[in-house]
Amino acid sequence: MILVLLGPPGVGKGTQAGRIALHYEVSTISTGAMFRDAITRHTDLGRIIERYRIEKGEYVPDEVVIAAVKARTAEPDCETGFLLDGFPRTIPQAGALTTMLEERGQHVSGALELKAPIPEIVGRFSGRLVCPVDGSSYHLLTQPPVQSGLCDLCHTQLVRRADDDPDIVQRRLEVYMEKTTPLIEYYRERGLLYTVDAIAEPETVFSRVMDAIGQMK
Ligand code: AMP
Repeated sequence: MILVLLGPPGVGKGTQAGRIALHYEVSTISTGAMFRDAITRHTDLGRIIERYRIEKGEYVPDEVVIAAVKARTAEPDCETGFLLDGFPRTIPQAGALTTMLEERGQHVSGALELKAPIPEIVGRFSGRLVCPVDGSSYHLLTQPPVQSGLCDLCHTQLVRRADDDPDIVQRRLEVYMEKTTPLIEYYRERGLLYTVDAIAEPETVFSRVMDAIGQMK
């Protein structure tokens, strides 16, 4: 299974990606988490990404993202399939993904769009916390960690993402509308789009997600 997760920032892609990965035993490739981790660890990729102001919500150039995804998906854990969270985000990225998979004799099983109205999403950002080590996400109201302020998986102190600041959230949503919403049509035209209503508890959204995955050919 090669699954693309679509939807605006803050809609719950990270949370659903975690559940899908666990249930279907596939690796998740989150380009945002990859970039934040590369910057923190000062890797070669991190030094390149630092130039592009991702903390302000601006996109990394397509060629950089595509090269990073090509390298990551060539690793052994991706042989039987993977889940893409945050990639593709532009039409050229989607085209590059299609070509890359064709060259490997693979194809996208489906693009799962998590849908919620923008005002609902803006509200969700205020309580969002993430683990800086494993990238798992929490919400103070809807999905609190078991121990206050600590990651359930590795007990690291949870943090607020720098780009969850309200002004930057606004910018991220604008960039999403302009550059990423055309992907919904891209996958619809190819008969690969599956839309899920994301306004519900994570558990309920996950059962909708499983229904949608069950319909994929
Ligand atoms: P995310 O964690 O998916 O919200 O990504 C955080 C940030 O990383 C985004 O706001 C972008 O600046 C950058 N980023 C992640 N994935 C991509 C992508 N596919 N194309 C361009 N920029 C990206």
